[in-house]
Amino acid sequence: MRVSTAKMDAMKEESESQSCGDNQGSGDHESGVATSNVESSVQMDGVKLFPLIVKWSGKEYEIEDISPLKTVRDLKGAIMTKTGVQPGRQKLLNLTYKGRQASDETVLSYLSLKPNQKLMMMGSLEKEIEKVDVPPEDRPDVNNDLDIPDEDDEPLENREVHLNKVQRRVKEYNVNVFNPPRPDKKLLVLDIDYTLFDHRSTGESASELMRPYLHEFLTTAYKDYDIVIWSATSMKWVEEKMKLLGVSSNPMYKISFYLDYLAMISVHSQKYGVIEVKPLGVIWGKFPQYTPKNTIMIDDLRRNFIMNSQNGLRIRPFRSAHLNRSTDRELVRLSEYLRKIARLDDLSSLNHRKWESYLAKRQQNKGDRRSHHSSSSQKM
Ligand SMILES: [Mg+2]
Repeated sequence: MRVSTAKMDAMKEESESQSCGDNQGSGDHESGVATSNVESSVQMDGVKLFPLIVKWSGKEYEIEDISPLKTVRDLKGAIMTKTGVQPGRQKLLNLTYKGRQASDETVLSYLSLKPNQKLMMMGSLEKEIEKVDVPPEDRPDVNNDLDIPDEDDEPLENREVHLNKVQRRVKEYNVNVFNPPRPDKKLLVLDIDYTLFDHRSTGESASELMRPYLHEFLTTAYKDYDIVIWSATSMKWVEEKMKLLGVSSNPMYKISFYLDYLAMISVHSQKYGVIEVKPLGVIWGKFPQYTPKNTIMIDDLRRNFIMNSQNGLRIRPFRSAHLNRSTDRELVRLSEYLRKIARLDDLSSLNHRKWESYLAKRQQNKGDRRSHHSSSSQKM
C-alpha cells in the first residue's frame, strides 16, 4: 500500500512538473521522490548554477545553467539569445520580488528561483511588430489539430470505464470554491485558450491578447449564470492567466471556481485514439444543483465536451489577436444567446450548434413584432 501511494505521488509530481514545473524542487526527499532537480544543478566556483525554463508563445526554451549572482538584466540577455525577443520587450510574468515585478537590477538569488522553474514570458519580436498589419500565413497549431468534426461524435458518455473515471474525479478532485452556487442560476463553463485569450500570439500585455468584450461578456453572463473556468493546464497557470486578464479581480462579476487538467479524464475513441476531455459529470457530481438541464460549456475544441455534447457550444477560436482584435464580436453575440436561453427552464432540448440561427430567428421575430406594433400604432 505504501509503495503504491508513493508511486502515485511520484506520478502526480511528474505530470504536474510536465504541465507547469512551478513546484520543481519541492519533491518529497524523505520518500526519495523527485530529487533529480537538485542533482541537475551544477556546481561551479562554489556557486550553484541552475537551468530555468522560459515559456513564451506556446513554446518552452531552456536557459541553461545561470548563476544566481547574475541580475534579471543578464537573464533577459540570455532569453534574447534563445528567443530573439529584445530585453526591453520581455515581460516575465511570474518573476516577482516582494510581490512586484522584479526590476532589471535585481540579483537572481533574491528571487528564490528553483532549478527548472518555468517563467511565463510576454513579448513581441521586432519583426512581428512590423508584421501586425500583414495577414500572417496560416500557422499550423499542433496542439489543436485534433478537433472532431460535427458529425463524428461518439456516444462515449455511457461507457462504464469513462463513468468510473468521472466518479473518481468527483471523489478525489478538490475544488476551491471562491463563490458558492447561487440559487436559481444556471451554469456557464468556459475554456481559456483560444476561447477567451489568444495564448499563442505574442504581445506586450494581456489586454492585447484578450478576446474583445471579455469583461462585458462575463458581466452579462453573471446575471443568469454561475461562471466556472476550466482549462487543460495546471491550476497555477489558470490562476496566473485569470489574474493577468483581470478576470479574478473584476468587481462586475464573480467566478465560482477554477478547474484544471487534473479534473479531466482520458477517453478512448476508436477513431481518434486517446484524448483528454472535460466531462461535466465531474461538476454535476460535486454540485448537485448543476445538471445537464442548466449547464452550458463553451470551448473552441469540440472534443473537450465529447462526454456531454449536447451541453457544449463550440466557439470560433480567437487566434492572431493582433489581426482579429478589431473585428472579433463572438463574445457579444454569444452573450446575447446566453441571455435569451437563460429564460428557458431546461436547456437540454437546445441544439447549440445552431446558436447563431437561434439568435437570428429570435431577432427576426422581434423585428416582425416591432413592425407589427408600429403599423398598428400608425393605424391608431
Ligand atoms: Mg481552447
